[in-house]
Amino acid sequence: MLDYNSLLLALGFSATCMMVTLLGTWVSRRTDSFLLTLVVALCLVVSGIFIYSSYTVRANPLTVSIAYVFLMVGFSTIYAASVQFRTGVKPWRLAAIFSIATVVPGLPLMAGGLDGLGFIFMNIATALLLIGTARQYWLAREEAPGPLSWMAVLYVVSGFSFALCAAVLIAEGQLVLGHAPDNWAENLNIGICIAGMSGIGALSLALHQWRLAAHHRREANTDSLTGLLNRRALFDQHASRTIGPSTAVIVFDIDRFKSINDQHGHAAGDAVLKVFAEELIAGTEGRETVARLGGEEFAMILANTMPGRAERITGDIARRFAERQIAAGEACFRCTVSAGIAFGTPERRNFEAVLNLADSALYEAKRAGRNRVEIAGFLRSVETAETRTSA
Ligand code: GH3
Ligand code: MG
Ligand code: MG
Repeated sequence: MLDYNSLLLALGFSATCMMVTLLGTWVSRRTDSFLLTLVVALCLVVSGIFIYSSYTVRANPLTVSIAYVFLMVGFSTIYAASVQFRTGVKPWRLAAIFSIATVVPGLPLMAGGLDGLGFIFMNIATALLLIGTARQYWLAREEAPGPLSWMAVLYVVSGFSFALCAAVLIAEGQLVLGHAPDNWAENLNIGICIAGMSGIGALSLALHQWRLAAHHRREANTDSLTGLLNRRALFDQHASRTIGPSTAVIVFDIDRFKSINDQHGHAAGDAVLKVFAEELIAGTEGRETVARLGGEEFAMILANTMPGRAERITGDIARRFAERQIAAGEACFRCTVSAGIAFGTPERRNFEAVLNLADSALYEAKRAGRNRVEIAGFLRSVETAETRTSA
């Protein structure tokens, strides 16, 4: 059977391995900066563990005080890393606040000889910081339910094992120990910490991979200019679906867009595309599927809608777009858009067929003079801004 000090060294080495792995992971993708915070935290905790290990061999107040400072600052930084993971805030202020809040009351106890009380305070503070860390990962679990829920569990279990150490010391009632606490709770705590550390290390890597995959998925599905879904994502989501009579597919095409590029430059054309994307999102309050099909063509899918509503929403988007003054460099100008609307049928049509119908309606709108909305099968058009204002 291994003695307590060997277990402590095993914990120190396992934490060192985790620190090196997380550092390597952070170097490969620096946007996940909570990993760097965790590396700093582990560096502090590992230092604290090794100093504490020398204290268990030869006890003196100075060694335990230094170990105490390293451990408290380390655990405070672990908590700050979890807040940074969830909210994105910079961790150093929070780490400093919790470090001061835990070091200032506990250090005089350790240095002044009331080490029994100092250990009780240290265990309670560590338990609270670890349970707080668990809470942060739990609250963020929607992003990656598996890894984050398990991380929360491991932090809670580790936190409770520190609380148990405090409870046993309180039960023993010794305010002055003069040596490292040595009881069944300490042995259980170190076993849990070794297992927890390995588990949390593996889950942190899984979490990083999860984020990386989500990031690539998002990039593959997003049009980089407008931030809308791209054509591939729209077809991935809808190509295999059939469309009933209460769903409208609308295709928009900006009028005479080529001449905007020719007159004002490509950057001005890009600005127009962004403005139209904004109007699409605003017009659907971000609740409907909107995508950039390519070039200056966009699509919108309105579920649970009747022709009147589809017509109104499409007309409003076109009107508001036509009213927008678009500034690009020295130039300031306005643009219009044409749109075609098509619905599914009671026997349901496939998505591509409805999209083609909407495209044909769009073609009709262009033929009829542009800046109009045409509904497939209804053989009539809705005038938009220009025609109305000139009327
Ligand atoms: P219509 O009124 O009939 O729709 O005419 P149009 O000029 O809008 O249509 P056309 O298809 O002739 O021109 C589309 C232009 O869009 C051609 C292409 O250079 C330009 N384009 C495609 N993608 C982009 C882009 O990402 N940015 C910019 N600035 N222009 C683009
Ligand atoms: Mg076009
Ligand atoms: Mg066009």
